[in-house]
Amino acid sequence: LIVVVRLGERPERDHRINTHLALVARAFGAERLVVFFRDQSLLSSLSAVNNRFGGKFEVEVRPSGSWKKVLREWDGAIVHLTMYGIPLDEGLGRLSVMPNSGQIMVVVGGEKVPAGVYGIADLNIAVGNQPHSEVAALAVFLDRYLKGSQLELEMEGWTQRIVPQERGKKVIGPED
Ligand code: SAM
Repeated sequence: LIVVVRLGERPERDHRINTHLALVARAFGAERLVVFFRDQSLLSSLSAVNNRFGGKFEVEVRPSGSWKKVLREWDGAIVHLTMYGIPLDEGLGRLSVMPNSGQIMVVVGGEKVPAGVYGIADLNIAVGNQPHSEVAALAVFLDRYLKGSQLELEMEGWTQRIVPQERGKKVIGPED
């Protein structure tokens, strides 16, 4: 089970980023994204994607300010992605020997990350020590954690399914 937590509470500023984060979490093997604000268009975009392409990915809205509670009640390993953390390979090695290493909460920041996150996380992992993006950090981390297997993920309950093609678009299911 993989749950992604998005810290930060400024949906109006980060609307596209949050949508991308949810899409990447879904496509790269997570079951849920936890956010601390209600953005109706984020919720409806993801439910439209599930209806079309399958799966049960959820966007869970928790009360503003409750990030500590969300992290503390997690029964598994907590990985915080931050450019200040330990190298990715070392982090994945440490994660693999932890009890519950298959049950992870992956925490990414938005604007300013509260200092307490570094202490509550079991591992603070950097995807390189240069600043980039929570979306890129999540994609690279999940790819390395799942060793690429997420790209073969079959999602159940699809109404449309893409058939890989060298050129053009082939889709099974009703046309839009
Ligand atoms: N300035 C913010 C801070 O106080 O940490 C970080 C802003 S950054 C645009 C947003 C998020 O992207 C971070 O909280 C982190 O989760 C992720 N991120 C950015 N660069 C990263 C890196 N090199 N490794 C891991 N995560 C990274």
